[in-house]
Amino acid sequence: MTTVSYVPPRPDARLPLPRINLFSDTQTKPTAAMREAMARAEVGDEQFGDDPTVWALCDRMCSLLGTEAALFLPSGTMANQIAIRVHCQPGDEILAHKTAHIVTSEHGGPWANAGAAVRGLSGERGIFSADVLRAALRPKSRYAPPQSLVSVEQTANIAGGTVWRPEELRAVVTVARAAGLATHMDGARLLNAAVALGVPAAEIARGFDSVWLDFSKGLGAPVGAVLCGSSSFIDEAWRWKQRMGGAMRQAGIIAAACLHALDHHVERLAQDHAHARLLAERLASIEGMAVQPPETNLVYFDPTDAGMGPEELAARLAVRGIRISVLGERCRAATHLDVTAEMVEEAAGEIRAILGR
Ligand SMILES: *Cc1c(COP(=O)(O)O)cnc(C)c1O
Repeated sequence: MTTVSYVPPRPDARLPLPRINLFSDTQTKPTAAMREAMARAEVGDEQFGDDPTVWALCDRMCSLLGTEAALFLPSGTMANQIAIRVHCQPGDEILAHKTAHIVTSEHGGPWANAGAAVRGLSGERGIFSADVLRAALRPKSRYAPPQSLVSVEQTANIAGGTVWRPEELRAVVTVARAAGLATHMDGARLLNAAVALGVPAAEIARGFDSVWLDFSKGLGAPVGAVLCGSSSFIDEAWRWKQRMGGAMRQAGIIAAACLHALDHHVERLAQDHAHARLLAERLASIEGMAVQPPETNLVYFDPTDAGMGPEELAARLAVRGIRISVLGERCRAATHLDVTAEMVEEAAGEIRAILGR
């Protein structure tokens, strides 16, 4: 019997260091300029409200997303968990797409931390329609679980890095509001969506009671997520941040990296999207390869009909210094600021060679 450990494995010393790292946009390393900005940061005790750089980041996020208040957190997972805890009571039901990160990847956090169950909705590309949401609403009753929250993921990760259009979001918010439910946006890659749509982030976030974005993905910061909402929502969120151990000290040193990312790494997300399209095009020209056309920086593909399973392809690439991930029984390649067009061409060439095409 094999037992799986919860401890992540250390890098396999037999494998070369990844020279082309398409595993995830979380693998971006802080640039020299970002490290300089961090070194220069003015800092203070964040837990006591003394860190000027954290306040500057929160203010900046409020203008970016059009919200009243903001909260700096160590991770996106904590942002989801705190938001859910504020919106929900034990016994409540949350409505989200069945592929959502809060369902698949937070170790049961909504159930454990808020005592709330997530009901997974269906819909193509990780997007559920207003009609699907309406059909999932339960009439208020002494028997049915109370429903308190609708959560959407922008972009929808496992579903393909897909983008909710503003009108799809509006329709869902309208139905949720009419039913008296709060609305939450897991905006881990919200700025990828904003850049892909050419629409301001505030327009995408409009109408949501809470929204956050992650700085440690394509934005290239080492740590950090910012949760935004009304002043009363953030007031409550601070309580849970303290309780969950997320209040920090000289956090300005990481907030400075996030501010640097907002100044220098947002418009360039368009390059990541172009690289993702280039990779998809190269892969689609391999006979038998099934490729989901990318909408942002994530390329999902299935090499099975080209003669090899996803796990085996990923293992063979790792030996050649190319790292991809396997998610939901498909291969995933993420483009980000450490990936160039040349690397994409090379990775596609290696995949073709491994498959003998
Ligand atoms: C990565 C991710 C998260 C969690 O963010 P962390 O900062 O890694 O905790 C949440 N939701 C989605 C959609 C993500 O891709």
